[in-house]
Amino acid sequence: MTRLPAPERGDEVTWVRSHLGDLAAEPAEQIVASPAFRGGQSAADQALAAFDVSGYSRDRNEVWPVGRRGASRLSPYIRHNLLALRRVWDHVAAGPSRDVSRFRDELLWQEYARHVYARLGHRTAAPLRHLPPQRPPTTATSPWDRSMACVDLAVGELERDGWLVNQTRMWLASQWTVRAGWDWGAGEIAFFAHLLDGSRAANRLGWQWTVGAGTGRPYGFSRHQVRRRAPGLCDRCELRAACPIEGWPDDEPGPAVHPDTRLRADADPEATAGPSAARGHREPSVVWLTAESLGADDPASRTHPDLPVVFVFDEQLLARLRLSGKRLVFLTQTLAELAESRSLEVHRGDPVSVLGPRDAAVTFAPVPGFVRRATLLRPAELHPYPWLVRPRDAPLTSFSAWRRAMGV
Ligand SMILES: Cc1cc2nc3c(=O)[nH]c(=O)nc-3n(C[C@H](O)[C@H](O)[C@H](O)COP(=O)(O)OP(=O)(O)OC[C@H]3O[C@@H](n4cnc5c(N)ncnc54)[C@H](O)[C@@H]3O)c2cc1C
Repeated sequence: MTRLPAPERGDEVTWVRSHLGDLAAEPAEQIVASPAFRGGQSAADQALAAFDVSGYSRDRNEVWPVGRRGASRLSPYIRHNLLALRRVWDHVAAGPSRDVSRFRDELLWQEYARHVYARLGHRTAAPLRHLPPQRPPTTATSPWDRSMACVDLAVGELERDGWLVNQTRMWLASQWTVRAGWDWGAGEIAFFAHLLDGSRAANRLGWQWTVGAGTGRPYGFSRHQVRRRAPGLCDRCELRAACPIEGWPDDEPGPAVHPDTRLRADADPEATAGPSAARGHREPSVVWLTAESLGADDPASRTHPDLPVVFVFDEQLLARLRLSGKRLVFLTQTLAELAESRSLEVHRGDPVSVLGPRDAAVTFAPVPGFVRRATLLRPAELHPYPWLVRPRDAPLTSFSAWRRAMGV
């Protein structure tokens, strides 16, 4: 393990190139920041302050021209809890009721995804209820044909900005699996490498639902949606006279799979949800920050404002994931800003080896990697995760069943 110098604001790209460049998807010298999002608490606060929910329900699904879009673009900040869901929920309270209700539905989708992942963990990598449509791959190269203007627009944004509106996520996921017959798991990994908001919870759920593995009803990507959500884009397409998605795809779902029994019930909801109040065994000397707890409101961090904070870039994990450099830059921008107000230690190595000898306070994270490490580390103090609604033994078989049972 290596202790790294703390990154400084304005120097994050150089810092990532020299300290993490060998772990990124691209060669170190090609690493750049996303031109669309900056990491850090102040960028998150500004994005939330600027977001007005009025018109959200009408414009949320618009794609192009970009000025027609009505989505909030808050997801990279929500992903790392720079913005906790409760704060975002409260922010829109005074908006038009139709928009508030639609927007809060989407926040609940995020919460639902977190509940599913917290309970099922790595099992979300397998289809939950149905196999996706079973057809042989229609192309040996990429399932994303960039001579299609719609696909080119979306893949360009994914690779350059690390962000997509929900609609184009569905287009690309459907194109990958429902149309081109490629394995959805590989598509999920391709998204995860680039998305600044990439989380196993929401990304896997998004893919499961789009390819029909969650519901048995695959989303069929066709020209109709492009005309509706991106009017005029087809006019620029070199395939406009021979559109490969002119009609609806044959979107018969694959066979049903035997659903995991944990979708219906949770035998240990307390373990799934983590502690409901802070639990301490020893006096902490540092605060351990994880990718799920980077915000100023993080419970462990806020409880100990004078303790040093420690962040570990997990070398083995990153070597396996091969994330695009812009994801690493986004995290580093967040850390660089943090270093201006807190004493920050940044390490590269194994979090268990780095934190093992320390008495760390940390906020529970509802992801299997955290649970495994926390079991080994036995943190000095464990703080509750900032759930929007605390998980309990509710069915996760569908979003609506979960909502009903949770009363939200
Ligand atoms: C194939 C696929 C992959 C996806 N991968 C991710 C991912 O890795 N990370 C991620 O946060 N979201 C993912 N989503 C969900 C959704 O597309 C994004 O959250 C949303 O587009 C982010 O943009 P926004 O912040 O402008 O969203 P808005 O429409 O403004 O919504 C506000 C917030 O609600 C939450 N939200 C909205 N829609 C969803 C949804 N369908 N599922 C879960 N949460 C939602 C997000 O936190 C979002 O920031 C995926 C969807 C699909 C179809």
